[in-house]
Amino acid sequence: MKIDGSCHCGELRYQADVDPAHSMVCHCNDCQVLSGSAFRSLVLSLPDALVMTAGTPKIYVKTAESGNLREQAFCGNCGSPIYSVAAGDEPKVYAIRLGTVAQRDQLDPTRSIWSQSAQSWIGHLGDLPRSTEQ
Ligand SMILES: [Zn+2]
Ligand SMILES: [Zn+2]
Repeated sequence: MKIDGSCHCGELRYQADVDPAHSMVCHCNDCQVLSGSAFRSLVLSLPDALVMTAGTPKIYVKTAESGNLREQAFCGNCGSPIYSVAAGDEPKVYAIRLGTVAQRDQLDPTRSIWSQSAQSWIGHLGDLPRSTEQ
């Protein structure tokens, strides 16, 4: 599936080809901190199937629990996270941050990973009182 996306300020734009079956939610500690949220949603690209069409992301390299290095790409202006990718690996499979994808409403997650570190209230989200806006 062809997708496109951008950061919040619009300095970074990209196009990618993804497999909608590889859309997921990650509850690992790194994703919680790096996203500033309780979990991260992402979709995996097909091999080498992401191109930046505007701007150059800033890269922060994190060391995963496994010792592997992962490049975290984000906008140096507005801070939106765009993707992560294993340093050095070829071909590159990009974990694209779903919130930046224009077609994100068509990419329902198909699984949860790192559920051992999920926040305990995640399962109750649907029970919270709702407001349609603020
Ligand atoms: Zn930006
Ligand atoms: Zn994670």
